[in-house]
Amino acid sequence: MTDLVQRLEALADAIRGCRQCPLHTSRTQAVPGEGESSAAVMLIGEAPGRDEDRQGRPFVGAAGRLLDQTLAANGLDRQECFITNIVKCRPPDNRAPRKGEVDTCTSHYLVEQIALVNPKIIMLLGGVAAKTLLGVTSVNEARGHLIEQDHRTYIVGYHPAATFYREDLTEKIKEDFALLTQALAKS
Ligand code: URA
Repeated sequence: MTDLVQRLEALADAIRGCRQCPLHTSRTQAVPGEGESSAAVMLIGEAPGRDEDRQGRPFVGAAGRLLDQTLAANGLDRQECFITNIVKCRPPDNRAPRKGEVDTCTSHYLVEQIALVNPKIIMLLGGVAAKTLLGVTSVNEARGHLIEQDHRTYIVGYHPAATFYREDLTEKIKEDFALLTQALAKS
C-alpha cells in the first residue's frame, strides 16, 4: 500500500469512528468516500442517503445509478474518480445537513481528503456542496464554466437526484458532465 493510500485509509477509519457531531447517533454506518487515491476528478455530493448509510459507500442508490450512467455516457468510470460527500453520515429522514454538521465534517475530513487526493478538477454536485466549498448560492449561476479558487479548479453541477423532482434538469446534468470531460481533456 502506498503512503497516500494508507493516509486516505486512516482518514476513512477516523470517519467510520467519528462522534464529532450529532449525526453519528442516527447513522447505521459512516460513508467516508471511495475511489482512486490520486484521481484526476473528485466528485462531491451532499450526504449519504438510505442505501449509502446501509452499505457504507457513496452514491450506490438511485442517485448513484444515475451518476454512473452519466459518467459512462461521458466516457468516465466511477473507479477513476474519488467520490465523497460534504457530510459523511446520513441526516435523519434525508434532511439537509445543518451548518454545524457541515462545518465539522468539512474541517475534520473533507479538507484533508481534497489535499490528499489532490484532484485536477473538483465537481460539486448540488447546492450544498457548491455553497460549502465556494460560497455560491445558486447552482444555476455557478454552473457552465470552470471556477478557479484557492489554486483548485471546480465545476458546479446539478445533483443527479435533482432530476427525480425536476425532469427538465436532465439535459443540464448532461451539459455539466460534458464540461467535466472537456476540462479533463485539456488538463
Ligand atoms: N446523494 C448524495 O449527495 N450522496 C450520496 O452518496 C447519495 C445520494
